Amino acid sequence: MGIKVAKFGGSSVADGIQLTKTKQIIEQDPDRRYVVVSAPGKRFEGDNKITDLLYLCKTHIDHNLPYDQIFQVVADRFMAVEVNLGVDVDLLTQLETIRENLRRNPSADYIASRGEFLNAILVAAFLSFDFVDTAPLIKFDSRGKLLMEETDEALRDELAKHERAVLPGFYGSTPDGNIKTFSRGGSDITGALVARAIKADVYENWTDVSGFLMADPRIVKNPKQIKTISYKELRELSYMGAGVLHEDAIYPARMANVPINIKNTNDPADHGTMIIGEADFDDPAERNRIVTGIAGSKDFTVVALYKNMMSSERGFVRRILGILDDYNINFEHLPSGIDTVSVVMSNKDIGDRLDDVLDEFRSRLRPDSIDVLENIALIATVGRRMTLRTGVAARLFTALGEAGVNIRMIDQGSSEMNIIVGVENKDFEKAVRAIYNAFSEEE
Ligand code: ASP
Repeated sequence: MGIKVAKFGGSSVADGIQLTKTKQIIEQDPDRRYVVVSAPGKRFEGDNKITDLLYLCKTHIDHNLPYDQIFQVVADRFMAVEVNLGVDVDLLTQLETIRENLRRNPSADYIASRGEFLNAILVAAFLSFDFVDTAPLIKFDSRGKLLMEETDEALRDELAKHERAVLPGFYGSTPDGNIKTFSRGGSDITGALVARAIKADVYENWTDVSGFLMADPRIVKNPKQIKTISYKELRELSYMGAGVLHEDAIYPARMANVPINIKNTNDPADHGTMIIGEADFDDPAERNRIVTGIAGSKDFTVVALYKNMMSSERGFVRRILGILDDYNINFEHLPSGIDTVSVVMSNKDIGDRLDDVLDEFRSRLRPDSIDVLENIALIATVGRRMTLRTGVAARLFTALGEAGVNIRMIDQGSSEMNIIVGVENKDFEKAVRAIYNAFSEEE
């Protein structure tokens, strides 16, 4: 027997119907001993997430506007679940305590956390598991930074006392006892911390999709599911915009080497996506696969600087980065040639300051020429040992050429797992489809 931590996202716990599916999933496997829940999410298109409503209460309180009706919507949803599930957890008393606290204008973090708090109490009763509050266990320092080791120890010590437990996601507390939440979607992080603390065999993350797809389904029709992906590959893909999981959730699970299985509450038999430390190259399907996924996004600017003898001019790149630093702009990529270097930045970061930045480049770097490509989309093709295999880049570029896509930039870096191309925004979808078609038949 192993131990599984199962985290259920907002849509998996949105109402009595979803919670009944959740219960069946948990009861199907006795290894699912620790359950982390989000606050109830949307039940249908246009519905409200409990967390959003709670933040809305706070905004009203801050503006001295009545908030009782909004809080009543929250209260009604929880009470309906209590009735639907046939559990009795004295919700009224809990709601009254929260109402009292609201009168004292508590922090946004406290208010937002109550969605997870109430939900975990209900789910614990429904499953007949213990309720374990995460407030004293997930520890932040006074500036709000997560204290990993202290949290690890506190969770481990507490959970050793509980055979089975439900924990609320999303929050912990600071040394003065105040509630502190993670950023939005942070219940994923709670699940990962619990999985790490108890050395789970697997961290199951239950959501409303069956894991990751090789490409964005809004661009590629019926893309294949990614069955396994390494943490590193996932990091590359999510950086480029593919997201199902909170980015910070990967870190604790990775540290503890706990695989993460993304699963679908509405289709529990589906294998989902397994996120693992390293690809298992003994498995032929894994060994043969070249591309794991394709992700990208639009709206970047590439500034290509050319200067004769740049390669022997010391500090050139340092000065570029200094200028960007002065403007608080991140560079995304920095592909370089002998006498050229291109700076890739997101339009969002640059805002309306492109001309100012170019003036700085001209006066402080004195390049022979500057080319600016605006409205560039970046596409990352991520895979395993890609650059070690002959012909991968050729295949990718041929596919783009045949689709009539003009490649404006290439950055292969030294990582073996990523080829990034820059194309014009208007060619983005076409390029993603061409790359997908070139590599999706691998397995
Ligand atoms: N309920 C929180 C949110 O909506 C945290 C979570 O669901 O992970 O962001």
